[in-house]
Amino acid sequence: MSDVEYLKSQLTAHPDFPKKVESTLGIVFLDIFPILRNPLAFETLITHFLHHLTSHTIAAAPNKKIDVVVGLDARGFLLGPILALRLGAAFVPVRKQGKLPGVCVSATYEKEYGTDSFEMQADAIKPGQTVVVVDDLIATGGSAKAAGELIAKQGGKTLEYLFIIELMFLKGGAKLDAPVYSIVQSD
Ligand code: IMP
Repeated sequence: MSDVEYLKSQLTAHPDFPKKVESTLGIVFLDIFPILRNPLAFETLITHFLHHLTSHTIAAAPNKKIDVVVGLDARGFLLGPILALRLGAAFVPVRKQGKLPGVCVSATYEKEYGTDSFEMQADAIKPGQTVVVVDDLIATGGSAKAAGELIAKQGGKTLEYLFIIELMFLKGGAKLDAPVYSIVQSD
């Protein structure tokens, strides 16, 4: 079994979570926590991302390194710091509004019902730094797009957006200012 098939086999699907929605799309919530409960699967996940980043992303980066890993609230916080440490990069969190101290930059994004705001501490990224963004899953791409706006506002250059899972039918990657890399593509 390939590492991608192995990781895919660990995911669990939960219909009607977090709530039942009247929809013809038959949306199910895909849970990544079984991967984190299994040390071999978690190691496989981190190694897969690192192999991709070192063989592909860093090779194509203008400064031949990744300066900052940005993790999205909340499951991006479980992956980002590990990747950052292994890359020798900084880790920077993007949080929901009102959670970060000090001066912050903010960006608004569309949710299923209404809008929400993401924030990043204003001095977290320096102009010209290279950045990758990580989260567990991309759906509409709204939250990743807002994170990209926060990075751009500070003069950072986003090289890539990393996800364990990409919901292909929602075409979220088309909203973003850099390529998406996903391990599992779901229809
Ligand atoms: P987007 O902004 O529409 O791309 O939604 C992505 C955000 O919603 C990410 O932070 C995900 O963690 C979360 N999300 C949406 N659907 C799922 C799912 O099926 N499993 C896990 N997270 C999800």
